Amino acid sequence: MENAFEFDPTRDYLAEWELEAEKKTLVPKGKNGRPLCLAKCRDGNPCQAQVAIDPVTNRPRNQRCRMHGGASTGPKTSAGKRRIGEAVAQRNRERAAKRRTERQ
Ligand SMILES: [Zn+2]
Repeated sequence: MENAFEFDPTRDYLAEWELEAEKKTLVPKGKNGRPLCLAKCRDGNPCQAQVAIDPVTNRPRNQRCRMHGGASTGPKTSAGKRRIGEAVAQRNRERAAKRRTERQ
């Protein structure tokens, strides 16, 4: 028997595969094509809000809307982690200075 698959160089297999994967994972979609959150709401119905988009990657963050995404898991980039570290150090300096003035 002949192999059924024949490679067609004119087809974009990766794009087709991505489209297929998107169809499977991101349905149903909202008004502007974004997938819906579908978290279980307090009234028992699936949430109809659209998923939150990560502004950095421009892709859905965790398939949930802005209300159902859960707590932040903190900065991911080294620049973001440094920013948080500097903010904590600054806050600690201010607290120490305040304590020094109160003690006098
Ligand atoms: Zn939701």
